Amino acid sequence: MANQWIAGVDLGGTTTKIAFITMDGEIVHKWEIPTDNSNEGQNITTNIAKAINEKMNALGESKDSLLGIGMGAPGPVDYETGIILNVVNLGWQDNYPLKESLESAASLPAAVENDANCAALGEMWKGAGNGAKNLVCVTLGTGVGGGVIANGSIVQGKNGAAGEIGHITVIPDGGAPCNCGKTGCLETVASATGIVRLANEELSKGESIGELAGRLAVNGKITSKDVFESAENGDALANKVLKEVYFHLGFVLASIANTLNPDKIVLGGGVSKAGNILLDAVTENFAKFAFSAVRDSTKLALATLGNDAGVLGAAWLIKNKLNQ
Ligand SMILES: [Zn+2]
Repeated sequence: MANQWIAGVDLGGTTTKIAFITMDGEIVHKWEIPTDNSNEGQNITTNIAKAINEKMNALGESKDSLLGIGMGAPGPVDYETGIILNVVNLGWQDNYPLKESLESAASLPAAVENDANCAALGEMWKGAGNGAKNLVCVTLGTGVGGGVIANGSIVQGKNGAAGEIGHITVIPDGGAPCNCGKTGCLETVASATGIVRLANEELSKGESIGELAGRLAVNGKITSKDVFESAENGDALANKVLKEVYFHLGFVLASIANTLNPDKIVLGGGVSKAGNILLDAVTENFAKFAFSAVRDSTKLALATLGNDAGVLGAAWLIKNKLNQ
């Protein structure tokens, strides 16, 4: 009998992650291809289909082994139609029929969802969510992504734009510009870029001595990792910056929990590699602003799947379709 695999695809602006995944969520093969966004993004789905076919051939697998392709894409997606509404860096026109394009390129059933939502589904299925039916995932990376799962399903909203936690306003006046066109979004303070921006703002006040200022002097720039490491070593400026980050995250997550009372709020993305220091500090702030019944039942946790969350969640879309 042929294998029963699902192709999970996590489409990024520069690289695309692809994995063959079993119905139990086990990753059998995973690899990456560059994302070619030239020619108005017309090569993207054909390149993915080609990469999948080549890998199947190389493994000596027949096409019957693939049940479908699930894909996470960086933008708001209308799940029913598989239309991606707008994306900045892939070359596609607004309202691009991504599911249709993928299905015709690969001659397989496809399902498409927003990438942060896929990460949330991945964590629900195989990660920190541990099967929880009510889950909120926040991805703290270059930007801040969010995915909300209620009763086991992604909350889509009217326009596929629900769960955009990164664009909740946290600085109402005089906030930094955000990629979305607003100012003062959570993303401008809690993403890796936001943390570096806050730190540079403090450092530019010029009165700083200490580890972080030293790292800036030596390297000419700092990363969010520098901020976390300096803070851990007792640097006052880095700790001041992170105190602000933890406050905004705790405040926003408590407000979300007061609305949804999820089983878990999962923190993922590169920034979450700071680990328990981040988790404990955000939890402390969360506890201040969460309604008592929510505080006692909604738990904060670190994501466990790392970069695999997206492909796993994308594969889950197909598994879920097949199970219906
Ligand atoms: Zn924004």
